[in-house]
Amino acid sequence: MTDNRLYYDDAYTNRFTATVVERTMVDGCPAVVLDQTYFYPTSGGQPHDTGRLDACLVVDVLTRDADDAVLHVLDAWPDEVTVSAEIDWPRRFDHMQQHTGQHILSRAFVQLADANTIGFHLSPDSVTIDLDIPHLSSEQLDAVETLSNQIVWDNRPITASFMSKSDALQLALRKVPDVDGDTLRIVEIAGFDWNACGGTHVAHTGEVGLIKIVKLDRQRGNLRVEFCCGQRALLDYRAKNGVVNQISAELTCGYWEIGSNLTKMRTELQAARKTIKQQQATLLQYEADQLHATGEEMESATVIARVFTERDSAEIRNLANQISRKPGTIVLFAVYAPATALIFARSKDVDGDMADLLQRVLHQLGDGKGGGSSTFAQGSTNALYNGKQPPAALSAALAAAKEQLRQ
Ligand SMILES: [Zn+2]
Repeated sequence: MTDNRLYYDDAYTNRFTATVVERTMVDGCPAVVLDQTYFYPTSGGQPHDTGRLDACLVVDVLTRDADDAVLHVLDAWPDEVTVSAEIDWPRRFDHMQQHTGQHILSRAFVQLADANTIGFHLSPDSVTIDLDIPHLSSEQLDAVETLSNQIVWDNRPITASFMSKSDALQLALRKVPDVDGDTLRIVEIAGFDWNACGGTHVAHTGEVGLIKIVKLDRQRGNLRVEFCCGQRALLDYRAKNGVVNQISAELTCGYWEIGSNLTKMRTELQAARKTIKQQQATLLQYEADQLHATGEEMESATVIARVFTERDSAEIRNLANQISRKPGTIVLFAVYAPATALIFARSKDVDGDMADLLQRVLHQLGDGKGGGSSTFAQGSTNALYNGKQPPAALSAALAAAKEQLRQ
């Protein structure tokens, strides 16, 4: 049932009158069959048209397997038998540009890289073809892109005609189709490409506009090539040019210098991070020496107790380790940042079990968890928040620890 698909011979008519010959349902939505239609049903990688029949929106168009009838799925039933139809032309023309661009690109890949197209996908966001090869050099890609655009600039006519399979096989078909029946619709790009296809195409290659390859993805031995044509290529260029100009302005350089400038900035950032790390280590050592000097001499060791606020607990842990390397030292630290941490450490030559001390302090506070070894322990507790400002409560916790050491 191909004789009532008028888009086969004319892809440009987007307003027409037709007669409703059947009313049916598709997934709970009203759907009609028309005596003839220019609406394209989803097939061959090209999405369906949208538009309206009288005031009813055409939300989907598909082919019924049983009899190949074109079903126009609607948002409501049309009142009349004779309907005025209108196809959403920007959407249809976009599909024509992308689809025709795909024919050109696929032939260019065969011609220059011996790569066959084994898949085509067209969606509102992207257009891709899958090639049966695992790799392409950037030189090959450039050559394919250049040839494709040359074909566009040639403004070659594109025609479609039905012919017998045997006649079609006399042509340099890009791919021999695996279809039932003896009739094929062959789309010809004059002097360049012949392919069996039921889709809608522009009448001259010039209408495709720019063909731009934008991305490659390896997929299990195949290559997925994302590209865009016509208006999509313009919008893509516009968006990317905007980003490039913004980055150029930020870096106060020409767009051709962005790459080298970013490399330079990354190198400088790495060096700066290294310097900061070294300076932090020096500062921490200085702080460790200072704190050690303020330690309280107790019977068993010099005890350094301190509450820190708004400090990184990992940094304070480093500080505790640094100080406890000095002989005869016990470190009792608390951090409020604002999460709390208790950090207890001792040097190896001092007796005492820091994990045990921590447990006894947590027990005394009535809440908390933590653990560690006899030389280093770390814990936290919610009890420190009970009605008191945390730093004061932390001081009290450290005083309790000191008391434990005295016992
Ligand atoms: Zn096609």
